[in-house]
Amino acid sequence: MLKRTNLLMTSVIFAALLLACGAERTALDPDRPGVLLITMDTTRADRIGCYGYSGGTTPVLDRLALESIRYSRAFSTSGITPVAHASILTGLFPYQHGARVMFGSVEHRLGEEHPTLGTVLRDGGWRTGAFVSAYPASEEFGLARGFETFDSGVRDELRDDFRESPPPREGLWLDQASVDAQRRGDATVDRAIDWLGESDAPFFAWVHLFDPHDPTLVPPASVLDRFGVPADGSGTRDQAYDPEIYFMDQQIGRLLDALRESGRYENTVVVVVSDHGQGLGDHGWFQHRLLYQEQIHIPLLIKRVHGASPKAAVENALVRNIDLFPTILALAGADPSIETEGRVLPGLAVSAPGPGGAGVPDPANADTRVAYAEALIPLDTYSSPRLPKKQWDNLHMIVEGPWKLIYHAVTPANSELYHLGNDPREARNEWEREPEVRERLLERLRATGALQVAVKAGGEGAVDPEAERKLRSLGYIGG
Ligand SMILES: [Zn+2]
Repeated sequence: MLKRTNLLMTSVIFAALLLACGAERTALDPDRPGVLLITMDTTRADRIGCYGYSGGTTPVLDRLALESIRYSRAFSTSGITPVAHASILTGLFPYQHGARVMFGSVEHRLGEEHPTLGTVLRDGGWRTGAFVSAYPASEEFGLARGFETFDSGVRDELRDDFRESPPPREGLWLDQASVDAQRRGDATVDRAIDWLGESDAPFFAWVHLFDPHDPTLVPPASVLDRFGVPADGSGTRDQAYDPEIYFMDQQIGRLLDALRESGRYENTVVVVVSDHGQGLGDHGWFQHRLLYQEQIHIPLLIKRVHGASPKAAVENALVRNIDLFPTILALAGADPSIETEGRVLPGLAVSAPGPGGAGVPDPANADTRVAYAEALIPLDTYSSPRLPKKQWDNLHMIVEGPWKLIYHAVTPANSELYHLGNDPREARNEWEREPEVRERLLERLRATGALQVAVKAGGEGAVDPEAERKLRSLGYIGG
């Protein structure tokens, strides 16, 4: 009897100690999985094998999909890198998190007041590190908060080299692991793997890969050769796109292998998503920034920890990148009490409790999600003059069920309405033919408050010249 009492007392004391230490970081805590968030810049869903592409670009992701939930209908909030990333990290739409444009002097930076995946997981005891590949995903846009290690890839010494002997402007730049304001995926993943190897503690790593962004930094010649792209740099930007995705996929494979080798793969939540897609001539545009599907429809895979079920599935409900914030916190078992606009993704059977938007899965309501995205082009001081004239507008997108509205706030007569089910390529504007749908979606859009913008046309205040130079080197400015 005495023994049992002692045992009971010991258990009570142990439980109390555990509670007291709840916020402390403990090594190999089985209740705290690792979290690996991979954001693939400029990656179209329809160029990925598990999304139906036959170009052989993504053997690693295709294998990962066999043990993941694959979301077939995921939307970004923006075609602009820092804006979309701010949504992923906060669970908020751009008009809520404050980073709406890339080149303005206001509304170009994630607001300090918003919790991020970095701050919440750091405060919950996770070791946090971010390894990003380019300036648009850097601390300049407020994305570094919460990361104890923030490795931006914008390396001063390389920038100096670049100034002294700039790479040729014609053709592709070959076999350089890093130039100016961006670096190739292998360089970024090297840093992430080193960091993962430094400690066994539960971690949250965000790895951002920039390879498909544009052709100024391309994979090694052997990868180009595999896709029949001339290694002398005489290819076109479109030709480089598939090899770049393939190269990025291989780097994701190195990262996953490093987790396997250290025995942490099974206990790691892996999320792979892109920030936005890319125009490859669709709708008369060869970059991103607009709101058509080739730029706003994003791939999204989520692998849960070992033992979670179902093992692999495809989820066809409409979901948004803002849903990642509460979903990742729920899957990690982190503080689910933070209010966000996002909702836990359907299909994951997550049962974490919590008030507000976070923590509670509501698969029954999955179909009521509405996607929103924006492109405040005239307010983004350096928007490309090469944009098609009708797109030179402040664009706001709402998707509800099969219907997609792209409202042109400056010239409403240019607004667009598409039925994505019947017209996935957005070729037939139903704006005039469907007044009821149009008015319903417009009403919804007005109710969000998204049409109010603080940033002023022309960009009040000068843009930092160094920021301008970096952005120009990445092809954002001018034309
Ligand atoms: Zn991007």
